[in-house]
Amino acid sequence: MTVSFGHIEDIAELSLIARTCTRCSLSDGRTNVVFGSGAVDADVMVVGEGPGQQEDEQGVPFVGRSGQLLASLLAEVGLERDDVYIANVVKCRPPRNRDPLPAEIDACKPYLRRQIELVDPSVVITLGNFSTKLLLRTTTGITRMRGVAYEWWGRYLVPTFHPAAALRGGERVTNDIRSDLRLVRSIIDGRISSGDEPQTNDVTVSVDQDEESSQMGLFGES
Ligand code: SF4
Repeated sequence: MTVSFGHIEDIAELSLIARTCTRCSLSDGRTNVVFGSGAVDADVMVVGEGPGQQEDEQGVPFVGRSGQLLASLLAEVGLERDDVYIANVVKCRPPRNRDPLPAEIDACKPYLRRQIELVDPSVVITLGNFSTKLLLRTTTGITRMRGVAYEWWGRYLVPTFHPAAALRGGERVTNDIRSDLRLVRSIIDGRISSGDEPQTNDVTVSVDQDEESSQMGLFGES
């Protein structure tokens, strides 16, 4: 059953609702619901995949090695971790860190949708395939989607690799994330704005938001 949190005006209230959520079977194995953290009025919002073991234990997203790398790469472009809002596609840890299932993503997406609406950032950064495919409603993988800022629901969306991929993939992946975060810096500094002519490293692409998808809203929900 589709649920909407459109009537919730306070992100702390939404977090309280999520804390006791049993909308999918990931609730069975969790220690904590990892709802989100950071500035609730942030200009930049980061959306990852799902909590790992340390996140599940602490109830905070991106506290493990991936989180440390993310914080360090954000700092390189002048963004402190506390200045951004960080959330995941699913709020409860999948067992043995497996990929979240479509039904679990579907059950959890109303929380993310309302988080984005309430934080209302200028730029959303999606980390990896799951958040990129969900928010851009695409089946194309992150390797082809990254490197570009998409105009998305009145803001920008910049997809990049998940920092866990950089921990596995080394300097090349890390440098690609660096490049994407420089794009984010350009947007928040006002060096890229809607209607600019695309340049090699400062590219904006409009996502097709046809009449049907406009009526349906973010991620195809009504
Ligand atoms: S993953 Fe999301 S939908 Fe599933 S139980 Fe946790 S908060 Fe609820």
